Amino acid sequence: MKKEPDLKNPEIAFAVEAVVQAAQAAKMIQKEQADLKLLKSDDSPVTAGDFAGQALVSRLLAQHFPKDSLVGEERAEKLKSTASTLILKTITQAVRQFDSKATPEKICEWIDQGRGEAAGRFWTVDPIDGTKGYLRGDQYAVALALIVNGKVQMGILACPHLDENGTIQPQGPGALFIAVRGQGAWASGLNDRRNFIPLKVSSCKDATCMRILCSVEPSHTSQTHTEAFIKDLGLKSGALAMDSQAKYARLAAAGGEAFFYLVPKSKPNHRMKIWDVAPGSIIVEEAGGRVSDLEGKTLDYSAGTSLKNNPGILVTNGHLHELVLTTLKKLNRNSKS
Ligand code: AMP
Ligand code: MG
Repeated sequence: MKKEPDLKNPEIAFAVEAVVQAAQAAKMIQKEQADLKLLKSDDSPVTAGDFAGQALVSRLLAQHFPKDSLVGEERAEKLKSTASTLILKTITQAVRQFDSKATPEKICEWIDQGRGEAAGRFWTVDPIDGTKGYLRGDQYAVALALIVNGKVQMGILACPHLDENGTIQPQGPGALFIAVRGQGAWASGLNDRRNFIPLKVSSCKDATCMRILCSVEPSHTSQTHTEAFIKDLGLKSGALAMDSQAKYARLAAAGGEAFFYLVPKSKPNHRMKIWDVAPGSIIVEEAGGRVSDLEGKTLDYSAGTSLKNNPGILVTNGHLHELVLTTLKKLNRNSKS
């Protein structure tokens, strides 16, 4: 494993610059216009910060790797209606901090370049993972990954409200987490990136000491399942709720041992999107942890924008993976929700 990431590597240099710019834009907008949002077709919110972030990542990708495609969470369609004039103005102001010539038309074009094909070599971005956390002033992450032939090769998370140890620091400068397949995972400050520390998951093997993480949003977590899980294994501590892939960063930095996304019984076909999992999952794996679906299978990133072949997600420090899998299977057999 390398002591630190090679910041001169062109892919790493691009990825760092892209997520740092997107995080700076998100912070800028949060200070002024955080409540400026639209609702997507699934009723989830999207803010000026999400759009500005995707535009900035897309703009830099076109400069650094013009042949690579981008698969992003956001679409510009709704921004083009007159009802969105104010939000588009806010986005334009934020993007102009990095490119003084950016126009609203060009920004919509950059955002829609994120509709690339999820095949071969491509990048996937969630410009603000945890938009609801961002709106509440809680955890969120700018999440970007490079996928080649169905395998994540690099992942990066900018977490403005975490420190390098995965500790919650809403007033701090934030942290950057990065992993390269076969080379390791590291963390640094978000602004001061001179020192990277290698990430290593917790060595805990004792189930009762397991610290679990979970979503804040009730619709993403089955509270009944989480409580049953804690009781079944006799965990000494309750679950720590955090939005976004900040959970992967915290677990990679030994700040927890496990978290999972179940398939809600009311939505048996629900599958996670690749941008919600790929960046965080390689960071956990390169820190020595394990990521699988709830059947224990490796995640398959060659099936389009969703993890179609993988029901649910389980993320652990590795040592406790099999025990958590078996326990979840047992609880699932006995549950109705
Ligand atoms: P969270 O960890 O709660 O911040 O969720 C991370 C991402 O996963 C968000 O983009 C959510 O929209 C998505 N997600 C997680 N669980 C579900 C679910 N049960 N239904 C729909 N989306 C989900
Ligand atoms: Mg997301």
